[in-house]
Amino acid sequence: MKNYQHVLLTADFSEEGDLVAHRARQIANLYRAKLSIIHVLDNIPMPDTGYGTLIPLDQTTDYELLEAEKLKLIRLAERLHVEPGDRWLIWGVPREEIVRLAERQAVDLIVIGSHGRHGLAMLLGSTANGVLHDTRADVLAVRLS
Ligand code: AMP
Repeated sequence: MKNYQHVLLTADFSEEGDLVAHRARQIANLYRAKLSIIHVLDNIPMPDTGYGTLIPLDQTTDYELLEAEKLKLIRLAERLHVEPGDRWLIWGVPREEIVRLAERQAVDLIVIGSHGRHGLAMLLGSTANGVLHDTRADVLAVRLS
């Protein structure tokens, strides 16, 4: 059986997401796997932007809300020692973009919170549930109380 080679952290920047991030780093270290991070932009308006659009992190805009989200991703990635080329900011529906990126980047383990911003009242939030259902990668759902 092969070890995991590419771990994908799904980050929604919620407070509890720290635990999910910590687990992802820990597991990537354990397997000496590459760690990537994805944040899907679904909470700020992005006029004229098609779903699935990759937002470059190295170009600044005058859109404050977008710059704030970029900064959160960059800070988290730096804290976890994730290479600039492995940081993904994508406009769209979280479940769809996570599954698509995992497929394209040959991710073999997706690390996700059991719930986040969308699923506070549920055992397994909608994003976690959808990803688990749709991806071919393994999924580690970090239980958040
Ligand atoms: P939810 O199912 O939306 O309650 O969220 C469960 C988990 O899905 C969160 O803990 C994150 O790991 C992931 N997630 C939710 N929304 C996003 C997002 N916009 N971008 C990346 N990951 C997300």
